[in-house]
Amino acid sequence: MATRTNAIESSINRLQELGVNFLAIDFDMTILDTHTGGRWVGSLEELLGHVRHEFKQLITASLQKNIRVAVVTFTAQISFVKGVLEAIVGPEEAARIPIRGNDRTWSYQGNGSRDGKQAYIASAVEELEQSGDAKITKSTTVLIDDDRRNIHHALSDGTRAIWFNPDKPHHLLRDLARLV
Ligand SMILES: [Mg+2]
Repeated sequence: MATRTNAIESSINRLQELGVNFLAIDFDMTILDTHTGGRWVGSLEELLGHVRHEFKQLITASLQKNIRVAVVTFTAQISFVKGVLEAIVGPEEAARIPIRGNDRTWSYQGNGSRDGKQAYIASAVEELEQSGDAKITKSTTVLIDDDRRNIHHALSDGTRAIWFNPDKPHHLLRDLARLV
């Protein structure tokens, strides 16, 4: 377990060196090792068996180090996202994690990009900044997503992003530690 601790520490250290204070994380095939297609018919318990331990570690460690987290997802099943976050960090911490999905509970009125996850990220930042947090910008944000299109849209818009390889989840912490 020692190497795993080092991997998470190295990745958080790298984020802090770069001034990153916000992680926007995809849900299907990223936090989860399955794609729910927004139509999960199983229980929350069953879904919890699909949460990747890399993200349990990363989300927990990030919040401890004051790096804010949001989930940006195309699913409309927000109650499952909330349930997963509560299972990972507990209800109190989970309440501090904005969720932006396709549930029509939010809209982004700003002038920024609407491609991929960009409006989802911008709207989550609006919520975090309302609660008086440190200034979050594109250069202090990292999107983590298994869909290359979303990564492309983020990078084109000047937002840091890391493609998450769903077949090689163990690369996540290494890739974060090497982020430039
Ligand atoms: Mg995905």
